[in-house]
Order: sequence, then C-alpha cells, then structure tokens
Amino acid sequence: MNAKADLHLHTTYSDGALSPYELVKKAKAAGLEIISITDHDSVGAFDEAIEIGKEFDVEVIPGVELSATLDDLEVHILGYFFDYQDKTLLESLAVFREKRLRRAERIVDKLNRMNIPIKIESVLANAAGNSVGRPHIASVLVSEGHAESFHQAFNKYIGNGRPAYERKEEFSPEDTARLISEAGGLSFLAHPGRAISELLLERLIRSGLDGIEVTHPSHTPELVRYYRGIVNEYFLIECGGSDFHGGLKGDEHLLGRIGISSETVDIMRRRLLPN
Ligand code: AMP
Ligand code: ZN
Ligand code: FE
Ligand code: FE
Repeated sequence: MNAKADLHLHTTYSDGALSPYELVKKAKAAGLEIISITDHDSVGAFDEAIEIGKEFDVEVIPGVELSATLDDLEVHILGYFFDYQDKTLLESLAVFREKRLRRAERIVDKLNRMNIPIKIESVLANAAGNSVGRPHIASVLVSEGHAESFHQAFNKYIGNGRPAYERKEEFSPEDTARLISEAGGLSFLAHPGRAISELLLERLIRSGLDGIEVTHPSHTPELVRYYRGIVNEYFLIECGGSDFHGGLKGDEHLLGRIGISSETVDIMRRRLLPN
C-alpha cells in the first residue's frame, strides 16, 4: 500500500535521526501529502516543519506523542490538531521533558552500577537539548562498545523489564487526553499492539480518547482488522503512521508504505467541527 498520509514521525526534537527539514524532504520523496511529526513530549519541530512543508507542498499537522501509565502498563497517546502554542500544553511538555532527564540519569546510574561506565553528559550531548529518551542512551552504549547494536542495547540493558530499565513517572490516560482536548486537539491510543487486554482497552477508551492508531509497523494485518473493528464498535476514529525514526531502528523502508488515506484524515478533521 502506498499511503498518502503518515501521522507518526519522529525528528531530532526527540529520538529521531533526521531534522524536520530532512524528514519533510524524505516524506515528499516517498509520496506523502500529509504528515504529522509526533515527537515524544515535544512540539519543537512544528514551526520549522510547517515552513518546509509549504516549500515542498506537504501538509504538516501539529502532533505529539505522550506517555501515560495504566496500572503497570506504559501506553503512548498521540495528540493531533491541537493549538501547538497552548500555554498549559507547552508547560506540561516542559515538565515531561524534565522528568525524562531525571529518568535518563537514573538509567545511567543503574548502568554504572552494572560496570558500564557511560556518562550522562554523552547521552545529553546526543539528545542535543531536546527530549531525551532511551534511544539516546542506546546510541551511546553502541558507540562506546557496550552493545553490538541498537536492538541489543535494548534487549540486554534498557528495554522494558531489562536490568537498567527505569519507568517514567506516572501520568494517567485521563489527564493526558484532557491535556490534548483542552488544547483543542484529538487524542489516540498509539500502537496498542498485542500487549493490551480488551478490559484495559475499554478502560482506555473510557478515559476520553477519540480513537486508536490502527496502522502501525508493529501491527500485523490481523491486529489492524481487530483494532479497526474496535474503532467501529465504539464509534471511535482511527489514525496511523510509520513511527519512522529516521533509519535509527532499521525503519528506512517504512516511509510512504505505512499510513492512512487522506479521507481518513478528513474524518479526523470532521470530529473537530463544532456540533
Ligand atoms: P522512551 O520514550 O525513552 O521510553 O523510549 C522509547 C523509544 O525507544 C520508542 O519510541 C522507540 O523509539 C525506542 N524503543 C523502545 N523499545 C525498543 C526496542 N526494544 N528496540 C529498539 N527501540 C526501542
Ligand atoms: Zn521514539
Ligand atoms: Fe510510541
Ligand atoms: Fe513513536
């Protein structure tokens, strides 16, 4: 399938490898007409991306990827079409980024206690003042010879449940959905994958989300059908994208291949119209 819209992309404003300029240019070359950059806890790419989008004739929708906790499970929530200058939203994003910094320090401490002497300074240099995440730590582990690959760094050390893993601070799905909706946007459960029981899914739906990310590289055709069914059953809307990180995760081939149609984006827009 060749998608016209990809609403899940990362740049150097969080843990992606490409700048907004490089990403928009690549998106255009891959045949995309509508994109959203959904950096973790940051909308820093938006101003730049919208300008470059005009140059390349690519529509750029404001987006963000947030993390929330339900019981013991970390879920990701995507926000779209919000006012990206909303003061409360920007303040919350700054708090989330600060918490990411503290968590990166805790992960590096754990690694140091495991006799892996990487420095927080190297991780932060890698993140270059932007939203710091585990991929920045993984890159240091690889470049300093403590892991053979990005994936091995996650599998051995910092992946969920691995020895140097540290959780994010708790923020509820309700509060996340409210933050986005009060900034005028729509919120979606990102890539639920196989990890979520129908019971948890129902609780998440009731927490105020507008929809579910149905198309995502981690979803098999069966999962795509399953979540599309849930979307219809609960009168939700769907979104989708490649979760492209700029080639960091061997995801180079995904751009332009995984996403949604422009008609699906129109359905999102109609949800925003006043009743
Ligand atoms: P963080 O927001 O710091 O928890 O980092 C999450 C990001 O790390 C995800 O968006 C992915 O880009 C990446 N990631 C998580 N798990 C893995 C994994 N097992 N292998 C490669 N990348 C991963
Ligand atoms: Zn990421
Ligand atoms: Fe995610
Ligand atoms: Fe993502």
